[in-house]
Amino acid sequence: MKETYSRTKSVWQRMDADERQAVMDYGEKYKAFLDVARTERLAADEIIRQAEAAGFKPVYDMDSLKPGDKVYWNQKGKSVILAVIGEEPVHAGIKIVGSHIDSPRLDLKANPVHEQDGIVYFRTHYYGGIKKYQWTCIPLALIGVVYTKDGKKVDINIGLKDDDPIFYVSDLLIHMAQDQMKKTLAEGITGEQLQAIAGTNAEEDLKPKEVFMKMLKDTYGIEEEDFAAAELELVPATKSRDVGFDRSMIGAYGHDDRVCAYPILMAEIDEKSPEYTSVTILADKEETGSNGPTGMNSYFLKDFIEDLADMAGCKVRHVAANSHCFSADVNAAFDPIYGEVHERRNASYINYGVVVTKYTGARGKAGTNDATAEMMGFARRILDAEHVGWQTGELGKVDQGGGGTVAMYVSQHNIDTVDLGVPVLSMHAPFEVVAKADVYMTYRAMRAFYK
Ligand code: MN
Ligand code: MN
Repeated sequence: MKETYSRTKSVWQRMDADERQAVMDYGEKYKAFLDVARTERLAADEIIRQAEAAGFKPVYDMDSLKPGDKVYWNQKGKSVILAVIGEEPVHAGIKIVGSHIDSPRLDLKANPVHEQDGIVYFRTHYYGGIKKYQWTCIPLALIGVVYTKDGKKVDINIGLKDDDPIFYVSDLLIHMAQDQMKKTLAEGITGEQLQAIAGTNAEEDLKPKEVFMKMLKDTYGIEEEDFAAAELELVPATKSRDVGFDRSMIGAYGHDDRVCAYPILMAEIDEKSPEYTSVTILADKEETGSNGPTGMNSYFLKDFIEDLADMAGCKVRHVAANSHCFSADVNAAFDPIYGEVHERRNASYINYGVVVTKYTGARGKAGTNDATAEMMGFARRILDAEHVGWQTGELGKVDQGGGGTVAMYVSQHNIDTVDLGVPVLSMHAPFEVVAKADVYMTYRAMRAFYK
């Protein structure tokens, strides 16, 4: 691709036949990843499985590191860091790429099971920013872990296989919704109404909830109180699908941010012997503010870099000061149906390549890593040199809304950081859409950075 930046010609108009084929092939691999990595725990498992197959070893088993060594850190099964040791010593700086593997969803409450008029429900508390009405009347899978009283871990994964049962949040039929239809979209379905139907069977001497709990006991060995020691997530059960007659797009749950997690994982695995050490972070908890031990606001990234620094006999702060980070997260793609909320000249568009986002935040850039001109120039030179199609983007008109990414939690360690990622239509919906060309360009951008 000769023309890497254009606001008038899509990347399809700028790619040759080989690149077009590579885009479509890459889409198939990404869909396969999405359908396995449905939650942050499943994503972490799949990432570690693929990394180990590619020769990555736990960093806590290593006493020393040499160029070409591949290591990883498993952060409580919910976040992962991967690194390939470079030829240059780490105090010359490392190249960091970070994304997140959690997505908006409905979490079960600690005391979730109740029966109302013959129907057994799961009470939920939504996770991340959602439009609540979008989560009714769709098939939901229940995925997560439960710990029994004696500490036994029970994995739950119901609804992803074609013949599995699914769970379901009902909505009021249109015939009787006169009052509901007068409410705003924000109030039409409330958080407490997001209760998922989980069963109805009764037996001669057992009410539906008793039958339900008996089935749980027989199948999984868990009791009602065990829900207090659990993380169970209701996520859309729908598989990823090609969108459009031309199959140019992918519709799926959880593009934000697995659409960046997958390319950066692949870029790290495909990186054989980098000049500088490369570090890839796949983090949990971004959608609720990056807090908690598995979020990017925890010290585990700095601790990991400190391990690398210790083994190289230098100081972590000197490593950080010389390092750069691409924070890989999605941006809002321009949506012509809702064009009025975008500022056309600064919005990102599907099929125009990886989006470089200087700042996120809201109300006068509050709560953001605002990348320096130097960092923007650094990113641009890398993308141009490796012929990656790219564009700039901003999340809506000024004061229209806002958002955040993990960028500010990396840059707080004195690491120069900029956001790069894929433009998404219907971000945070149970089924989001991206363009295959942008996913591929994001992979190419990460390869270019590591090169
Ligand atoms: Mn995101
Ligand atoms: Mn998000």
